[in-house]
Amino acid sequence: MNILIMGIAGSGKGTMAEFIKEHYKIPHISSGEMFRESIRNKTPLGLLAKQYIDHGLLVPDDVTIQMVRDRIMQPDCDHGYLLDGFPRTMIQTGAFEKLIDDTNRELDKVINLNVGFEHLEKRITGRRLCKDCGSIYNIHNHRPKVEGVCDVCGGSLYQRSDDTTQQLEIRIKEYEHLTKPVIDFYIGKGDVIQIDASKEVPEVWNELKTNLEEIDDH
Ligand code: AMP
Repeated sequence: MNILIMGIAGSGKGTMAEFIKEHYKIPHISSGEMFRESIRNKTPLGLLAKQYIDHGLLVPDDVTIQMVRDRIMQPDCDHGYLLDGFPRTMIQTGAFEKLIDDTNRELDKVINLNVGFEHLEKRITGRRLCKDCGSIYNIHNHRPKVEGVCDVCGGSLYQRSDDTTQQLEIRIKEYEHLTKPVIDFYIGKGDVIQIDASKEVPEVWNELKTNLEEIDDH
């Protein structure tokens, strides 16, 4: 199954991606996580990306396309993949559509997580991630058992540098301006599962899983 998951910052994309990855045993390719890893490793790509990410801006298309293209061509994506956070602009979409067409990696489904803006700030500023395994928590409604420590692997939790109210406002504007046309493009192709992601995590996953299983049966 080749899946693309889309949703604004705070829509729960990362959390749902973890569930999907486990359920279908497919690699999870998150462009944001790839950038964060490059930043942690202080690679030239990481140093470049950091200048944009820290300001809530999108990383330029050319480097982003190159990075995802190299990843999606790896053999572990031969039998399915879950793409998260890419494509985010129409230029990326054009390059991606050509790539999947040329390499028989066409999408089976696109998931769009819908959340009202009023939910986003609490989700974003309360979000904490595990440095080691990437598990996602929230200080408001999904706390770890021990403060600052990951329940899954015992790693320490951190807050993303772009998870601030100010950066969120910029990210919302970028999303509306650059990413909404991508969603409209896939809606036009008739591929999109629309999910109400303002509910609690188990409910959202239930709805999503039901929708994906319906496709699987066809
Ligand atoms: P995410 O983890 O998906 O929220 O991404 C975090 C940040 O990484 C974004 O706010 C962008 O600065 C950058 N980023 C991730 N994916 C892309 C992309 N497809 N195009 C450009 N920038 C991206």
